[in-house]
Amino acid sequence: MTSTSAPKPNPSVDQDQFLTILSREDALARFEAVLFPRAVAREARSLAAALGSALAEDVVAPIDVPPFDRSNVDGFAVRSADLAGAGEAAPVRLVLNDEVIACGTAPTRLVLSGSATAIATGGPVPRGADAIVMVEHTQPARARAIEVRRAASPGQFVSYAGSDIARGEALLRAGTIIGSREIGMLAACGIAEVQVARRPRVAILSTGDELVQPGETLRAAAIYDTNGAIVTAAIAENGGDARFLGAIADDEAALEAAMRKALAESDMLVLSGGTSKGAGDVSHRIIARLGKPGIIAHGVALKPGKPLCLAVCDGKPVIILPGFPTSAMFTFHDMIVPVLRRMAGLPPRSDARVSAKVPVRIASELGRTEFVMVSLVEGADGLIAYPSGKGSGAITSFAQADGFLKIEALADQMLAGADAEVTLFTPHVRVPDLVIVGSHCTGLDLVTAALAHAGLTVRSIAVGSLGGLAAAKRGECDLAPIHLFDDKTETYNAPYLADGLELVPGWRRMQGIVFRSGDTRFEGLSAQEAVRAALADPACIMVNRNQGAGTRILIDRLLGGSRPDGYWNQPRSHNAVAAAVAQHRADWGMTIAPIAHASGLGFIPLAEEHYDFALVTVRKTRPAVQAFLDALASEESRAALAKAGFRPA
Ligand code: AMP
Ligand code: MG
Repeated sequence: MTSTSAPKPNPSVDQDQFLTILSREDALARFEAVLFPRAVAREARSLAAALGSALAEDVVAPIDVPPFDRSNVDGFAVRSADLAGAGEAAPVRLVLNDEVIACGTAPTRLVLSGSATAIATGGPVPRGADAIVMVEHTQPARARAIEVRRAASPGQFVSYAGSDIARGEALLRAGTIIGSREIGMLAACGIAEVQVARRPRVAILSTGDELVQPGETLRAAAIYDTNGAIVTAAIAENGGDARFLGAIADDEAALEAAMRKALAESDMLVLSGGTSKGAGDVSHRIIARLGKPGIIAHGVALKPGKPLCLAVCDGKPVIILPGFPTSAMFTFHDMIVPVLRRMAGLPPRSDARVSAKVPVRIASELGRTEFVMVSLVEGADGLIAYPSGKGSGAITSFAQADGFLKIEALADQMLAGADAEVTLFTPHVRVPDLVIVGSHCTGLDLVTAALAHAGLTVRSIAVGSLGGLAAAKRGECDLAPIHLFDDKTETYNAPYLADGLELVPGWRRMQGIVFRSGDTRFEGLSAQEAVRAALADPACIMVNRNQGAGTRILIDRLLGGSRPDGYWNQPRSHNAVAAAVAQHRADWGMTIAPIAHASGLGFIPLAEEHYDFALVTVRKTRPAVQAFLDALASEESRAALAKAGFRPA
């Protein structure tokens, strides 16, 4: 039973494609060479609908603005020669003509020598007059006349016809992005409609059996479709008419049908996921059947973002972004935005850049252009760029970082102390008022909420207790939250402080055994008894913590040298322990009470962990630090902490 019509996957070909990895420069150059030059499609738009579009042609002013010589003040239209001899001691008397030129009134009377005509701001200057005197500089006189006590220069307070915009002048150039100011200029010339570049219609498809749309319920082993939303928004931000078509399962026939339909209706197609060599990854195979020339690059020496696939099918770009959202966004901004903006008639992006020092060494893979997200904080002499990435699967770093730095393909690291150029995600650097670097705790958000509400910006960078202490010693943060247990003194935190740092007590977090409520092996036992019960059951799987965690010390003590199944599963956070137990990947572990309760798990208290702050003493007088200390001591945050299951010190 063979079918000749349905093309079969050919693994060896796919393998070949993926092995030819191009540099980012090569890949972009080849992609652009196939796509450009091309005419930018255009359309007519009313002024109101043109906001944000790029003008498709130069606009020439059809009229003069103002269209006539116009008075700039309330006063009188005069002949300046009449006032040549005017002065404090020599007032000149001018007889008023019997008309008042209001805005929108065309003058009818001639201004003869010795006369003046009352005129309002915006009124057309009457024949014969060559200057305006302000009403404040005149005095009424008898018999419909005024007295003027100062000379007037010719042209005084007159805006001449065409002085703002001259008929025939190039008003706006093709490529200009239409903002409110441009709309104002066009309206002043009476232009109601302009030719703009038509936004390229860009279809967006997510791929993957695991994807669920936001708003729906997450099923087991599924994740929310992040790329659909972020790619759609990023396309709209860069001049595309983005149309998100949903997530398609990893089914070759269904995906091909969706891709064909999307491509028929759009100028460009952006997919995400399915470009690696995973079992379900089929989209790149489909592209080869969609049009010529097909795949231009599959595999680009970028990090994150290696599996990027660039193709052109019958003149339309088709792009498969890597599945991991951060990888998808970096490759999108670096490789797709330039192409999209050219198609949209927009100028290249001009992202703001700043230089900053890197506080720690950043290792980098040789041969790949690497992007590293950073958070900026103010150092003793200039900006410091903290690498804030949590790996290519993380999305939060993207929203919390200030920008990114680039490590060239030929470098294998960036040294601590190196100067780096940071490309900002925002137009300006926003240095936070308060910088907290160290171990993260959900309780922290409860305290800093008060600062945020008071208009202070707080940046908290999670690098763990030891990383925070190091940052505090270098003076790169205001506070370092730490929870470090000292074996020798059997105390928390204080033994770790260095000169220049002082301890601010934070709160206590009850650590204990977490298990699924109703598990009779643990219900009602003490921590010691629970661990004994767990060790007695060979089917029971634990989840451990990483070496160096205070919690790990407690676990090892309880285990007393035993190594039960699951011991080598060593996640780095309290949350990961709770998730492992809740999802039945483990039966017990050690976490803190608020997290166990938030996950609806059973909890056996064992010992309190001290979550305190190492405060950089020289920064203590800063207003934001004072505000933090006040908030920490306030009744409100103490109550909020207690409610969440923490015990304020
Ligand atoms: P893939 O390239 O399809 O193998 O995907 C690589 C990784 O990215 C997998 O962990 C996917 O679950 C994840 N991923 C793929 N598409 C999306 C998406 N739209 N939103 C969030 N994660 C995704
Ligand atoms: Mg996939």
